[in-house]
Amino acid sequence: MTIRTRVAPSPTGLPHLGTAYVALFNRAFAHQNSGKFVLRMEDTDVERSSLESDQAIQVALRWLGLDWDEGPDIGGTHGPYRCSERLSIYHDLIAELVAIGGAFYCFCTKDRLDTVRASQRQQGLVPKYDGHCIGLSSQEIQTEIENGTPHVIRLKIPTEGSCVFHDTLRGTIEIPWGQVDMQVLLKSDRFPTYHFAASVDDHLMEISHIFRGEEWLSSCPKHQLIYSYFGWEQPELIHLPLLRNPDHSKISKRKQSTSINYFRRCGYLPDALLNYLATMGFSMPDEREMFSYQEFQEAFTPSRVSTSGPVFDIAKLSWLNGQYIRNLSHSEFKEKLGDWAFGDGRADAILRVMQDRTERFDDVFAQADYLLGERITLTADSFNHKKLSSEDCVRVLYFSQFLLEQLHEWKSEVISEAFKKLATKLDLKFRDFLFPLFVAISGRSVSLPLFDSIQILGLDVVHARLRSAIHALGGVSKKIAKRLDAEWHQHTS
Ligand code: GLU
Repeated sequence: MTIRTRVAPSPTGLPHLGTAYVALFNRAFAHQNSGKFVLRMEDTDVERSSLESDQAIQVALRWLGLDWDEGPDIGGTHGPYRCSERLSIYHDLIAELVAIGGAFYCFCTKDRLDTVRASQRQQGLVPKYDGHCIGLSSQEIQTEIENGTPHVIRLKIPTEGSCVFHDTLRGTIEIPWGQVDMQVLLKSDRFPTYHFAASVDDHLMEISHIFRGEEWLSSCPKHQLIYSYFGWEQPELIHLPLLRNPDHSKISKRKQSTSINYFRRCGYLPDALLNYLATMGFSMPDEREMFSYQEFQEAFTPSRVSTSGPVFDIAKLSWLNGQYIRNLSHSEFKEKLGDWAFGDGRADAILRVMQDRTERFDDVFAQADYLLGERITLTADSFNHKKLSSEDCVRVLYFSQFLLEQLHEWKSEVISEAFKKLATKLDLKFRDFLFPLFVAISGRSVSLPLFDSIQILGLDVVHARLRSAIHALGGVSKKIAKRLDAEWHQHTS
């Protein structure tokens, strides 16, 4: 059997560390066994997916050296490799699944589903679809379709018994069918859901082993059922432990940087980042912590993957990165530093902003320090302002995170326009509104032009700075976050 593995990110945002972590294990295992490693873009969510994110994920994986044997850019024998380009495949197979009785049409409105769920919650039950449309006759279905009633197609779940499946790390797992929802497989926009697309694609792409995050364990019964309705053989499943924040919660961008781009911008070496990611789920037989990708690929065996949640600790990564940097020859160090500073046009962008503000060349470094370096130390006192309280500052910074994430274009004029609107909504004078942002981004209240600075730094670094500024101001409790989220929702709806 040819070993075939895949990583299947959803292109809905910045390239995530988790994608690199999962790609690393899949790639190493495939190549160790002379197999193939596939990149598949799961762009099943039309609203949230973007080609920009798709491209950024590819760039980030390549930067790490995690390139693929088949994928959306290079094609391959099992393409296409984007879900949005495979719709006719899903449509044919869903029709087959309905015909063999494994799925059914559902015409329930959102209002009906909301009412059902609310009453289930009231009774202390886990909300699930109640099977309302399961018994519709083919005549009724035909009439609804002819009337143009919006509909979805759902998976039929056995009414009794349990799903039993195997995970290489965890052994046999049994989940009663009663706990499994009648999952939507095809949405009303005729796009498949993740569950249907992943099962179909893994089968058609002849994926033999799936290494993925453990958050997908609970989805396995749905996938297993789809496989068994079609009579397909399920791939071997290896659910890797989730990366965690230092407080042991699931890694999230609200608590620390999760974008690969952030680590690239800060000057971590790809080899060091890969090495650190490998230690998250795996330990070398001799327990050493520093090893190359090649050594990892040779030594890797699923039996040495741990199931306990590894903490992604940036301080530890920095230490490891320092070891890698010390091991470089002086000329490699100069070359890599030069690539980092000049490679993506950053130094040039900084110098453009600087030229009009330079009287002597030695002004340059003093003014541009925060654009090149990352670690600014802020305290609550850094945000003392005669008109703004620290709560006001937190509000501005918190909403700015959302605002910047949603920008359609990363350009200083667009950023400035969006901030102006936000200041008006928050009923703050623009000057006052900008104060906490200046401090968060540059570490001082007056700096080079703020919007240019934000454009140069990029979303990942800016996000990290806003987050550490909020932290310096005492952070946001769950209760306040809830209130602010609701307020943001109001502003944007
Ligand atoms: N698209 C899913 C994700 O973003 C893939 C899950 C899987 O590997 O099956 O994580």
